[in-house]
Amino acid sequence: MSDKKSATIAVRTGITTDSQHNAVVPPIYLSTNYEFPEFGTVPTYDYARGGNPTRNLLETALAELENGAGAVVTNCGMSAINLLLSLLGPDDLIVAPHDCYGGTYRLFDSRAKKGAFKIEFVDQSNVEALEAALAKQPKLVWIETPSNPLLRVVDIADISQKAHAVGAWVGVDNTFLSPVLQQPLNLGADFVVHSTTKFINGHSDTVGGVVVAKESALADELKWWGNCIGATGNAFDSYMTLRGLRTLSARMRQHEENSAAVLAFLLQESLVDVIYHPSLPDHPGHEIAKKQQKGFGGMLSFELKGGESELKLFLGSLKLFSLAESLGGVESLVTHPGSMTHRAMSDEAQAEAGIAATLLRLSIGLEDHTDLVADLKQAFNKVRESQ
Ligand SMILES: *Cc1c(COP(=O)(O)O)cnc(C)c1O
Repeated sequence: MSDKKSATIAVRTGITTDSQHNAVVPPIYLSTNYEFPEFGTVPTYDYARGGNPTRNLLETALAELENGAGAVVTNCGMSAINLLLSLLGPDDLIVAPHDCYGGTYRLFDSRAKKGAFKIEFVDQSNVEALEAALAKQPKLVWIETPSNPLLRVVDIADISQKAHAVGAWVGVDNTFLSPVLQQPLNLGADFVVHSTTKFINGHSDTVGGVVVAKESALADELKWWGNCIGATGNAFDSYMTLRGLRTLSARMRQHEENSAAVLAFLLQESLVDVIYHPSLPDHPGHEIAKKQQKGFGGMLSFELKGGESELKLFLGSLKLFSLAESLGGVESLVTHPGSMTHRAMSDEAQAEAGIAATLLRLSIGLEDHTDLVADLKQAFNKVRESQ
């Protein structure tokens, strides 16, 4: 376990380690292949699918930030989850949340239909449902907290304890908070996965992922599979992601400060119906979030009062919140889950998952928060004037 704080690890990984020219920032290694020093001696790096110095630096930083034994950086978040699935066989059961990320749901469901493993989706905040699923002795319990888009929170330590009691591994998708605000391995999980596309890179210009393992034997197994199935990330994206990672702590602080300002504004706005944010005392996951998170992050969802015409006018009037999918970048975004990220779900399935027709999800960026609040205010006023 590192004795350094997150900000220091992220900033310092690889700095002044260049032995050739004493470069302060580590250079990028684009080479596909590496020379063998002599017949019969295999070098540390031989072929870039299996190992690359630039990717390796990012893996070192992310493993240290999550307090894991090792990490594999992959070419996207989905391939990180897919890589972890390589550890399972046809008789193994996965217990996953019923409201997990849409891509994760599709991957689990489609691979299970092909016989790769068995899957059961449950509402993990329902104790009886979770315990009934655990009684079937799963191999992996998948957790996503806070969830997308309603920011539901589940107790990582409690679920990990129960899962370990039946011999299951616990994997946590930590994309929404980053290791700066939540460290699942310290709470008992065995694996952490990130879409580094989001907060870790933080600049909406690379797609990437990572799996971090708590035990070194499992980290080695994942490394072997990463090379075997070709899931590993490339040098250029790794370089970009490490560059983004260096400012993660500072960015998360500002995401939080800006989110708190936007939340305070939304709380007094009469056109806002329900707000979903774990910092609110009436949020069902408030106490768990306070216990296991070091902060509330940069995501927030709310329902707009009215119907489709209000929604259209509001979204069309925003100037600083871009109508786009994804999250965690420096720029503020607004997403309408019903017609965007969750459009593959039927209206009934959306209703069952609690996704209302006027639900909006904000990824609050790093613009000045007075400008963000002013932008929201003028858009709400446009809706008010039309009524
Ligand atoms: C985006 C996302 C993923 C998938 O990551 P990609 O980099 O898009 O493949 C997985 N989980 C969560 C929570 C995400 O937000």
